[in-house]
Amino acid sequence: MKLLFVYILFLSTLLYSQPNEDADSTAYYSSLSHSYVQNNNYKEALSNTQKAIQYAIKNNNIKDQAVENYNLGKLYYDLRKYNDAIEYFIKSSSLIAMQQPAVIQADTYYNLGLCYMAKENFDRAAMYFQKSKSIYKLLKIPDTTELFELQKGLIYKGQNKLDLALTVFKTIIAIPTTPALTDTKTEALYQTGSIEALKNRNNLALNYLDKALELNSKSENLEQKASILLALSTVHEKMLDKNNAYSYLKQHLNLKERLAIINNERLGIDDYTKFKESERLKEIVRTNNETKEQERVSKFSKLISILAIALISILSLLSLSLYKNNIIRNQSNLLLKEKNKELEVAKDKAEKASKARSEFLSTVSHELRTPLNAINGITHLLLEENPKKTQMDYLSSLKFSGDYLTKFINEILEINKIESHSVEIEHITFNLKQLLVGIQNSLKELALVNNNNFRLDVDAAIPDYLIGDPTKLSQIILNLINNALKFTKNGDVTVTANLHVLEDTAATLYFEIRDTGIGIPEDKLTSVFDSFSQGSIEVNRKYGGTGLGLTIVKKLIKILGGRIELTSIVGQGSSFSFKLGFKISELPVEFKTAKKIDYDSKLVNKKILLVEDNKINQMITKKMLHNKQIICEVIDNGEDAIDLVRKNKFDLVLMDVHLPGINGTIATELIRTFDAATPIIALTAISLHENRDMLLSFGMNDVITKPFIPEEFYTTIAEYI
Ligand code: ADP
Repeated sequence: MKLLFVYILFLSTLLYSQPNEDADSTAYYSSLSHSYVQNNNYKEALSNTQKAIQYAIKNNNIKDQAVENYNLGKLYYDLRKYNDAIEYFIKSSSLIAMQQPAVIQADTYYNLGLCYMAKENFDRAAMYFQKSKSIYKLLKIPDTTELFELQKGLIYKGQNKLDLALTVFKTIIAIPTTPALTDTKTEALYQTGSIEALKNRNNLALNYLDKALELNSKSENLEQKASILLALSTVHEKMLDKNNAYSYLKQHLNLKERLAIINNERLGIDDYTKFKESERLKEIVRTNNETKEQERVSKFSKLISILAIALISILSLLSLSLYKNNIIRNQSNLLLKEKNKELEVAKDKAEKASKARSEFLSTVSHELRTPLNAINGITHLLLEENPKKTQMDYLSSLKFSGDYLTKFINEILEINKIESHSVEIEHITFNLKQLLVGIQNSLKELALVNNNNFRLDVDAAIPDYLIGDPTKLSQIILNLINNALKFTKNGDVTVTANLHVLEDTAATLYFEIRDTGIGIPEDKLTSVFDSFSQGSIEVNRKYGGTGLGLTIVKKLIKILGGRIELTSIVGQGSSFSFKLGFKISELPVEFKTAKKIDYDSKLVNKKILLVEDNKINQMITKKMLHNKQIICEVIDNGEDAIDLVRKNKFDLVLMDVHLPGINGTIATELIRTFDAATPIIALTAISLHENRDMLLSFGMNDVITKPFIPEEFYTTIAEYI
């Protein structure tokens, strides 16, 4: 039997131990323990097996743990510490349960069976033997049948089923003896002998016991031998064979004494207690470590849980805020869209209102011009008809008022045009010096009125030919000089033009109009540029004016890309300055000076067609033409005008632009299809959407604006006749 266990142990070690037997490894301590068992040193065997277990735990090797716990169980079994043995076998079997079925599992169950047999718990022993047997069968391990049969017999005997036990044992006895079976067969012979003795079949008993003793001599099983000797002594005693009884008993006692010594050598009671205590200590340390580890793990997992919860909460809050944000954004978008719509509607309304205002102003001023033309025209005619001295004064006042109104309306129209962005900037070549000299000449008479010294100071470095808008530049400078001459008496008015920056193709010029006049108070330096703003009521009364001139100047300078600056000291004079950029032109141009034409003789007997629908204007214009002995034919619509021009030869056509039916521009365009020679001059109170260029583009030669300034009127006609 012992051989079988050695074989099983060897097999188990082979199957489960690590191949590498490094010092400080499970396998190392396991083999140490094994050699201590050989030397009957169970103290060291126990201690090394335990070390082997510790390493298996440390390496987290479940298989090694199972094997070493089994080995420890075995050691306890050998030491007859069955409860301890059961404890470790059960540990081992629960560790094995995590693995595939294996020999060690069957071994463990078998040993558990043996432990319970020793504790005479036959039912439990039978159960474990059964478990063990089925695993051996499954793994096809040979030579185990008799082992289980023997245990079966022992259980029957333990349960007092003596006949059943006898049958089982005798079956084993009948099997031919092999070295592997020696122990099992000896045990069966011994058990049969014992039962026969119990049944008082003493001779039979002696027969079996003698055979048992004989077979036992082939093995080293001293415990078995001691039992057989005791049984032989008892049977001999029963048969009153005192000698043999004594002799066997004596042998039995000697053997027992030897065994006791061996057992005591294996492990003293003190050693056992010490070992158990150290084991308990280790267990406590281990469980403590485990608890600590568990606590650490649980702390860690708690931390992870808290973090996870925090993360989830943050994510949830984030999602919620995103969701809310989205809703708020959508709502704001909706609100913005609504506001946008409202703003667009408001903008549309404002644009429409501004357009309506512009249109209104344009229409009003345009409509005012026609009666104004009548007033100015008739005043002019009356003044030419040698009025009486008293009438002369009235007529002069009337002329002054007419002129003022004309200027006022023209300025309103100009501002209106600028504000409604209807002003186009010209880019034409001009000669600045000639332009300034021309302006100076035209204002010489005005300078004389207030006895002013009017000087022009032009930088010689300024390029001769510039590209820009000479009309607007003239308008600006004329306005500023006009004011300077108006608000200065017996003083100096100087117009300066300096070259500020010169580049390859461009030049920036600095203009200054300086006077030594009345000056402007400091608190008015900004407001003088506002519409209808004049220095003071006194100034207005004394000097007249509309309060629109500087507004126009400021706006014109701005659209040309500059900014007006004003410095002034009351009583000492004022300075208006600005800078403007111009492109430099290579092409020279001829400057048109306003030539004084002697039109009187030129106009006599010339034939002019007047196309005009307004009766008063017809009358005034006709009279003005007759005064210069011009032959004048009048027609009030465009269609008839075309017919007349086709059929007759006229020296010139004066064409009102606004006519019933086809208007003056279309009529001109149609005339030009058959007559390119006859000069056609447009008569117009230029409105918001008209300009000189536009009118000329229909084939007209020039434009005379209403209300007419007689001088200009005659000069322009004379120029084209
Ligand atoms: P006005 O038609 O009244 O001259 P402006 O817009 O040209 O209108 O000028 C506004 C006001 O600025 C004037 O009424 C005057 O008080 C003041 N002003 C303009 N130019 C001068 C100047 N050169 N010297 C003194 N005051 C001036």
